[in-house]
Formats: sequence, C-alpha cells, structure tokens
Amino acid sequence: MTKLFGTNGIRGVVNNDMNCELALGIGKAWGTYLKRTVAKPKIAIGTDARLSNDMLNTAITSGLLSTGCDVVDVGLVPTPTLQYTVKEKDFDSGVIITASHNPPHFNGIKGVASDGTEFSKNVEEAIEKIYFEKNFSLANWGDVGKHSTWDGSIDLYINGILSTVDVDLIRKQRFHVALDCGNGAGSVVTPTLLEKLGCTTIELFCEPDGTFPGHNSEPLPENLGELIKTVKESDVSFGMAQDGDADRAIFIDENGTYIWGDKTLSLAGKYITEENKGGISVTPVTTSTCFEDTIQNSGGELIYTRVGSPIVARVMMERNAVFGGEENGGLIFPELQYCRDSAMSLAIILEILAKEKRSLSELIAEIPNYEVYKTKITCSNDKKEVIMRALVDKVKDNKDVIKIDETDGVKLYVKGGWILMRPSGTEPIFRVYVESKDKHQAEQLALNYKKIVEDMIQSMNTT
Ligand code: MG
Repeated sequence: MTKLFGTNGIRGVVNNDMNCELALGIGKAWGTYLKRTVAKPKIAIGTDARLSNDMLNTAITSGLLSTGCDVVDVGLVPTPTLQYTVKEKDFDSGVIITASHNPPHFNGIKGVASDGTEFSKNVEEAIEKIYFEKNFSLANWGDVGKHSTWDGSIDLYINGILSTVDVDLIRKQRFHVALDCGNGAGSVVTPTLLEKLGCTTIELFCEPDGTFPGHNSEPLPENLGELIKTVKESDVSFGMAQDGDADRAIFIDENGTYIWGDKTLSLAGKYITEENKGGISVTPVTTSTCFEDTIQNSGGELIYTRVGSPIVARVMMERNAVFGGEENGGLIFPELQYCRDSAMSLAIILEILAKEKRSLSELIAEIPNYEVYKTKITCSNDKKEVIMRALVDKVKDNKDVIKIDETDGVKLYVKGGWILMRPSGTEPIFRVYVESKDKHQAEQLALNYKKIVEDMIQSMNTT
C-alpha cells in the first residue's frame, strides 16, 4: 500500500504537502530505483500548464541528476504526449508534473515506465520505500547526470496519431469543430492536430494558463457552459473538451448535448471491435453496462478490472486487448499506446463520423441507455476494510442478488441492474454506484443501498 502515490501519481497542495523537498527526495529515490537495473538511465520530463511547475520540475530534476540519471526536459505537453515520447524515443522512464483536473493550487508527480504506461503499484512502492528509508545511491562527482531540452515531442506525438487514422478520409469531410482545451496542456497539441486533419476550429480557452481563467479544468457539464452554448449557436459537427493534462476527452453532440464518457467509450469500442472483427476490451467495474452491451453486440469480449487507468492499461497489454478505457472520458487505443489519450479519441471520433456519414447524436442514440446513480458516504480510512468485509457478509445472502463480484469493492447483480459499493482509494469516503434501465428501480436501489452502507458505518463507529 503506497502512502504518497494515489490512483494517479502523487497529488497535493503546492508548498503544503506538494513541495520542493518532496520533489527532490522523490527524484533521488526514483533515480536510485532506476539505477538498480540501468547503468545510465535517461528520463524525459514534461509538465502541464500550472504555475508551480518550474519549482517542482527543477527540484525533481535535481534529485534525478544527483543519482547519475540524464534528464531531458520536453516542456509543456499533455500527459499522453510525454508517454508517447518515452515509448518512441527509448527513454528509461518519464516524469509528468501535473494535477490533471484539480484546481490551480494543486500539483502532482506521475511516473511513466519505459514502455510509456503509467508506473505499476510495485514500482511506486519500491520508490516510496527508498524515499522513506532515505536509502539513496548518489553518483560520484564525475558521474552526476546531464540536463538537456528537446522540443520534438509534440510533432512526434501528432505524427503518431496521424499515422493511425485515415487522414485523407477525414480531411475530405472538412469538419467544423468547437474545441475547449480549458487552458490546459491540450492547447499545445489539439488545435494543430485538428488543422492537420483538415478541420476548421472554433477555439475556446486554447491558451495554456495555470490559473485556469476559463473554467475549472474538470470537463463536467457545469464547467462546459461556454462550449455547449458555442456548439448550439454554430454549425459545428461537435464540441470537444479536454481535462487539464489532456488525457481525458468529453464530447458535445451537434445539438449541444453533453455526452457522458461511457457513451463515447461505447461508440469508440463498437467501431474498433467491428474493425477488428471481435477482440477483447477492458474497463473498470464502475463503467455502465452500456459498454458491455455494445462490445458484446459487436462481437467482442469485455473484461472488468479494478478502478485505475494503470490497471486497465496493464490488463490490456497482458490480454492483447483491442480497446479499453474508463467511463470518465479516458479512452485507451493500443494501436497508438497503452494510456488514456484525448487527442487520439478526437481523431477516432472524426474517423467514425467520416466513415459513417451520420451525425454524432444519431450514433450515440444507438448506444443502450441506463439510469445511473452515484453517491458517496464519509468513512474513515482505517475502517474501510472491516466495513467492506461486514458488507459482503450482510448482503451475500440477500434473495434479490443474482451474482456477487468482488473485483473492486462489492458489486451485486440484481434483476435489471447492479449496485457497486466500494471504498475510495484516495479519499475517506465509500462510493455507492447504482445502475438500471428503469429509473424508478435505480432510485430505489440507490436509496436502499446507501442506507445499508450508512447503517454499517454507523454501527462500526459505535462499536
Ligand atoms: Mg487527466
């Protein structure tokens, strides 16, 4: 169990729990870890648009250099751009300084393995162990690392995407697109990608700015009012928004309707499964059944995993999957790389529209619809495990339960729907997800099971 690394790297408030001492120590631990297997590791480092990036970048770079690693700074880039660079340019590891969609006073550090995927939990645990034990292996004075910069990362990445989609077909359609980069890292890639794909673009908040003046960088409906308004008032084929580090994409159909991530996941999954005439797709247990229905109806097979994109990506590699991703707009295309990739999602959606010659709203209407309820209940971290076990005991003999799945938390399949109760990996809360095709059933299940979890937490607090 890692203390510093959460579901998506280390995150914290700048100059509070995310400070230069931590970054320096993590840099030394990271370098020490890499040098156990590589004599002279070469590391790529990139950042999103945040104001504290220089402070953290120089601190972690200094730590890495002190252990004898060479560090190449690729500048302000989306997370998937850094990941692609690590894989394609044979780096031994990658560092991305980002707090993704968190508010501007947050920042974070995320690790990338030599194959471009996010660090596995084992690697994070090993780095933390070195960090806490201060078991650093510093280089001799003549062997400290060298620092350099490289500005080829964005072109490399855009060309990688262009080589995996049918550029001529997309260019012929001359799509008109509204793009909202949320002043995040996507600003340095996505407008150029759209231009190369022959699109004309209405740009909103496409200048990198770590104060996020446009809106909060989580692409939720309440943050995308300007984009939705722009789509409604213009004749664009669709709108697209990226989160702060541009690994996640959210689409708005041509009528201005917000499309939830599980629908986009299903649309892309259908297309890729049909193109491959089957194949495996991978997603966490939290994803709507609309994805399972779509993959199975397209002749594919779906595998569920625990929550977390690094877990999804690694299962995809192990099972040679054709597609995967999360319900939050994080889509993974193995043809390019094994990580969430918003720019690649955009290119695929354009290719689907170009081939199908139908509107995005028409294509989304074909995806099955489920009513989803998500709620959370406060619960102290030290009680989560015992509550989890007690919950399984309590509900396993419930006569309505058809199947129990304990991949992550406890997922109960009942007639017409399912309930998932799982402790958060990062916050002191228990999450309850409910899904059913029937709105009334979903509401009832949500109320019932929220109460079961609340009562269980209450009883544990009083014992
Ligand atoms: Mg992100």
